[in-house]
Order: sequence, then structure tokens, then C-alpha cells
Amino acid sequence: MRNKIVAANWKMNLNLAEGKQLVEGILAGLPALEVHKHVVIASSFVHIAQTAAQLAGKSNIHTGAQNCSTETSGAYTGEVSAAMLKDAGVSYVIIGHSERREYFNETNAMLAKKVNQALANGLHILFCCGEALEVRDAGTQNAHVEQQIKEGIFHLSAEQMKDITIAYEPIWAIGTGRTATSAQAQEIHAHIRSVVAAQYGADVANNVPILYGGSCKPSNAAELFACPDVDGGLIGGASLKADEFLGIIEAMK
Ligand code: PGA
Repeated sequence: MRNKIVAANWKMNLNLAEGKQLVEGILAGLPALEVHKHVVIASSFVHIAQTAAQLAGKSNIHTGAQNCSTETSGAYTGEVSAAMLKDAGVSYVIIGHSERREYFNETNAMLAKKVNQALANGLHILFCCGEALEVRDAGTQNAHVEQQIKEGIFHLSAEQMKDITIAYEPIWAIGTGRTATSAQAQEIHAHIRSVVAAQYGADVANNVPILYGGSCKPSNAAELFACPDVDGGLIGGASLKADEFLGIIEAMK
């Protein structure tokens, strides 16, 4: 059975005290999770050491980061390497979030380098893809995400694909309150899985978790997670409140 994952993406929110309190709230209410279910807290770099200390020794809940450098080490002011993340206790890193692509001009070629850095340092990757509203309106979303995935991760071996989780996040649904319907999510998730199957075969494709992200809330999570190709969620706004995030975790059957 492939892993199911609910990942919090705190984005650029919360001070240290708020982050600590939020993790405490999540830990206090976290249901017992089966072996194949995982929770990830992807905080800002500033929170990582604290979050990792809070989560140390706990199984099924992991410290994440929202980005890593394309480079290994050296004179790259302002950058954080995958090795530094690993050392600080990170096990999952988000790569290719649409906000990184859009506001920080991250190209598929740069993302492929970040993917390599993360894997070389033993990190699991939450690789994001997703289309803008114009693309959805033009009906070319499948080709759009296919290209993002091909250029970002298809240089990997089948063995390396074991550390990849794909997150489908339609840009028009992120932070907008407008969620993809479960039918829209299922359709494109199935397409993504078929693209992975065409490249790596059915075994690899069946084991790649594909998460949905974009205005996921306790009220819509159960319906989205019930889709056969939706293996959990990447949660922004609703991950900033313990009760909402726990409600989403509980929706993951
Ligand atoms: P949202 O963000 O849940 O606030 O829409 C999701 C994301 O950007 O990962």
C-alpha cells in the first residue's frame, strides 16, 4: 500500500513561539496513525531546529522544509543547502511550489538541480506541479503538469523515485477558497500516475503518493482523499490552526 501523507506548508508565517505552540497542539491531538500514514510539518527555515526537537523520537510525524538550494555549499548568500536541512533534522523538502516558481523565477531546470541535491542528502521530496487558471481554462492542464514533472523529476532512476511524492496544486485553488472538485482532482491525479507509469512502469507509479493542495479544509478533505489517486494533501492556510490541520489528518482514511 502506498504512503498517505498530510503535509503542512506554513509558508512565511508564525514566529517561534507560535510555531512551537502549533506543533504542541498538533501533537496533543494527533490520532494514532497506521504505518503507511505520515504527517509532515514544513515550516520556515527559522523554525526547523525547534520543530525537529519537538518531533524527535516521534514516528509518522516529520520535519519538513519549503525549499533548498540548487548548490552544495559555498558563496551563495541567503541560501540553505540540502545537507544543512538534513543536519537540522529535516526529512521532507517541498520543491517546486508554485509560489517559488512564480515569485522567485524557479525554472524546471533549477528544480531538477534541487531534486538532485535533496536526494543526495537523503531527503524525501514533495515535488509540486499545477496549472494557472488560464491553462485550466484552455483545457491544457494535463500537458502542463506533464511537462513540469518530466523536466523536474524524470531524470531520476526508478530507485530514486521511491523518495518522491508529487503534490498537484492548481494555482487557481491556492489560498483562494476555490477548491478543485474531487472529480477534477481525481482526473488529473490519474493522469499524473499514468505519466509516471509510462516512464517507470506500473510498480513505481502505484507507489508514488500524489497529494492534492489548494484550499483543502476539514470540510472538503474527506471527499478529496476518498479519490483513488489522491493520497493525501499539502495544506497551506488550514495548517496554521491545530484543530483545522488535525481535522484534515483525521479525514485521511
Ligand atoms: P492553501 O495552500 O491550502 O492555503 O490553498 C496550499 C499550498 O500552497 O501548499
